[in-house]
Amino acid sequence: MPTPPALRDDAPSSGVVLSGAAVLTMDPADRKLDGVDIRIVGHRIAAIGDAGTVSHPGDTVIDCRDTLITPGLVNTHTHACAGMFRGLTEDLPRSAWREAYAVPRQERFQPEDYRLSTRASACEFLLNGVTCIADRWGGVPELPDELEASGIRAVFGYTLTDQKAPADWRTVDRLIERWGTSAEHRISVGIAPHAPDTCSDELLRACADRAAQLGCRVFLHLAQSRYEVESLRTRGYAGAVACMEANGLATPSTVAAHCIYLTDAEIEDWGRHGISVAHCPASNLKIEARTVPIHRLLGKAAVGIGTDWAASDNAMDMLAETRLAAMIGKREADDPEALPIATMLRCATIDGARALGLDSVIGSIEVGKRADLVVFDLTHLEANPRHDLAANLLYAMSARCVRDVMVDGRFLVRGCRLDHDLDALRRDLARRAAVWRAA
Ligand SMILES: [Zn+2]
Repeated sequence: MPTPPALRDDAPSSGVVLSGAAVLTMDPADRKLDGVDIRIVGHRIAAIGDAGTVSHPGDTVIDCRDTLITPGLVNTHTHACAGMFRGLTEDLPRSAWREAYAVPRQERFQPEDYRLSTRASACEFLLNGVTCIADRWGGVPELPDELEASGIRAVFGYTLTDQKAPADWRTVDRLIERWGTSAEHRISVGIAPHAPDTCSDELLRACADRAAQLGCRVFLHLAQSRYEVESLRTRGYAGAVACMEANGLATPSTVAAHCIYLTDAEIEDWGRHGISVAHCPASNLKIEARTVPIHRLLGKAAVGIGTDWAASDNAMDMLAETRLAAMIGKREADDPEALPIATMLRCATIDGARALGLDSVIGSIEVGKRADLVVFDLTHLEANPRHDLAANLLYAMSARCVRDVMVDGRFLVRGCRLDHDLDALRRDLARRAAVWRAA
């Protein structure tokens, strides 16, 4: 019987030292450090200290002066395998999505296309400084294999629905057996019902029970369309949250993506259950021309940021997404003081990790945590002058400032380069796109 991969904690004694950097720790005190060294041994951060004070003989010391190091960005809701959909559904009316969230002729895409898309998206995420994703899809159980091979950290949810056929628990059980649900595993799985309107109450309840038994997260789309909420009303629920409460899903262990059709009362009462929120502003704006006022949810629940799928948020760029969340959030609040920089950067890192149940492992730069880090190159003009590096990061810098990316103590991006044949990926994407376009 296959077992989840063993924890590779056979830490070597020599380490890697990122030397002389500015650091946004996202630790509980939200410390901002300057001119410090971070020592990494094996998969973990072993020490943080003044430059020159933490390295040991035999360590590899990497010059990180003129850089800003942050925790890796955490994407709390995406569908990496839908990268092939980029550009296929633009400027559509809301009604286009009513029947199912599908792109035209989606049936032409084969499992190999979804695997290819996952490979490409993982590369794109890493190059953009995203080190962890909450990914989900149904029908292609091999996708976690692609994520594992890419080096990224991921919680994968195999989408369950019982709208047209019984829910595929057999595949979910196989994935749980293969990957496990532990936060300590770089790849793990959660339970992923599609949405309250595409799952029966029985299925939602079964998901809640299974997740409670495993101690893992439940991922679903919630209040993502007017149609969804209307259909819940025909089932006797006052709204989306009432459905969650009735089926045992109104807890912080549920990660609800979107939440754009909540009622005023639901938002007001959010602290009563603390359902975690994956806020996907670009996707919400493009599909529904609305968003959720997260300034009213912060403090009541963990709020993370998500890029959703490429059909509606064409970019896989968490920095851009977080900036949009800050901007549109100020508009929602009608208050320029709302959603300050530190709050938004925490949503993109430690609070996102908290939403996913991974905050004891990643999301901040602290001794003992896994080394999931991004090194931003501050020699780019947009990173200067350096009055306020956090402000530069959120409001001026872009993914092109990403110099190095480390996941689990391993460099996946070095000097802006990923160890992957991107030309071959591009060619494969073009070849498969031609198959989709063919008459
Ligand atoms: Zn989604």
